[in-house]
Amino acid sequence: MNKWIVGNWKMNGMMSSCRDLAAGLVTLEQEKPVRATVVVCPPYPYLGVVALRLMDSSLHLGGQDCSAHEAGAFTGQVSAKMLKDLSCGYVIVGHSERRAQLNENNDLIRQKAQQSLAASLTPIICVGENLEERETGKAIDVVLSQVQQAVPKGKCLIAYEPVWAIGTGKTPNASQIGEIHQMIARQNPGTPILYGGSVKSSNASEILAIPHVHGLLVGGASLDTAEFWKIAEAA
Ligand code: PGA
Repeated sequence: MNKWIVGNWKMNGMMSSCRDLAAGLVTLEQEKPVRATVVVCPPYPYLGVVALRLMDSSLHLGGQDCSAHEAGAFTGQVSAKMLKDLSCGYVIVGHSERRAQLNENNDLIRQKAQQSLAASLTPIICVGENLEERETGKAIDVVLSQVQQAVPKGKCLIAYEPVWAIGTGKTPNASQIGEIHQMIARQNPGTPILYGGSVKSSNASEILAIPHVHGLLVGGASLDTAEFWKIAEAA
């Protein structure tokens, strides 16, 4: 199966640094082509400027979120159709930071994923347990119920991101990742499953070698062009 390497830039950078990051990736892609599908997800205001840089490359653009509504009186929200119009092919929905900071629940996340599919975007639907759930043996149940409730029928990607591994430098061991990916794969045959949480070039190959890992969702390390490209080369 094809592998996906997705960079989530989160709320980082300004116009010039986002443009430079994109330009750097385009140069690296020409010098060192990779097999994986590479997607970058800049902050909303810089999607346009990054889209221009990516135009003649095979790199893909994604949003970090979208509205659960198609259009209308939703001040400050951005629709899936608008992302498509800006040449996005993907959109992250249900990231744990949004679940925690903005109280997003599985129902809302499923509606966002459905809007994405309706706009011909591929949603990257994030799931993952927190530390307490991991330590009390509830990780599998929590993740499978998130998947069951948040993932609609259609062409989606699922990203397993244990909350305690995001931005912490801690990663689950290979058997913990393998176990969760296998359970998700059993529940959703044919749906690619990405791993996310403290991915860097030094652990990318090892994680990509785990069965049912079809790609990586990269946060911090995606802000460094050379480091991110090394991760893409590992796929
Ligand atoms: P991290 O973030 O790679 O910085 O841990 C991953 C994510 O939040 O998608």
